[in-house]
Amino acid sequence: MQGINEGVIRFRQNDFEANREHFENIGREQKPHTLFIGCSDSRVVPSLITQTIPGELFIIRNIANLVPKYRESAEYLATTSAIEYAVLVLEVENIIVCGHSNCGGCAALYETPENMAKIPHTRRWLELAMPVKEKVLKMALSSDLAAREWLTEQMNVVEQLGHLMTYPYINERVKSGKIELIGWHYMIHTGSIYEFHRETGEFELIGS
Ligand SMILES: [Zn+2]
Repeated sequence: MQGINEGVIRFRQNDFEANREHFENIGREQKPHTLFIGCSDSRVVPSLITQTIPGELFIIRNIANLVPKYRESAEYLATTSAIEYAVLVLEVENIIVCGHSNCGGCAALYETPENMAKIPHTRRWLELAMPVKEKVLKMALSSDLAAREWLTEQMNVVEQLGHLMTYPYINERVKSGKIELIGWHYMIHTGSIYEFHRETGEFELIGS
């Protein structure tokens, strides 16, 4: 914890001071252009990998960057309410769903129920990605675990983009060109991001 506290002090003395005017300007209002939906994984740092500054990204992070399908509920819906706020109040122009390499959430889809027994809420949450597992098992050779891993991560992104379209206000804004939906696969060990192209169904390297 000491390292974190030292970081807090260093931030205030260095980065904050160097950008004091920007922080003062955004101190009373945010106008992010993009909703970023990423995994909670500690290695995925949205502002770092997009080189964006505070005020640009509205961020949702959860296990395996999942989007529940649209539904009305009296439950406390964290992801759904953050999507609603980003689109209907902040009026973001882009929604990025960003998966990543070596995703523990995606890998857990292949765990046995016994191995997941001690994390029942995680197991339940990952049910949102189960259709992906079924599709991948039909496509990838079960012996090629590396191919299965990236295919699961990429198809999960595509699946969640589909879930976003079940939100009536997103569906409408995508069709009228007010919002763009973007799917990414970030490779932690190379720093590369691959973007999903609907026309080809392929993920292609950004900046290739
Ligand atoms: Zn992950």
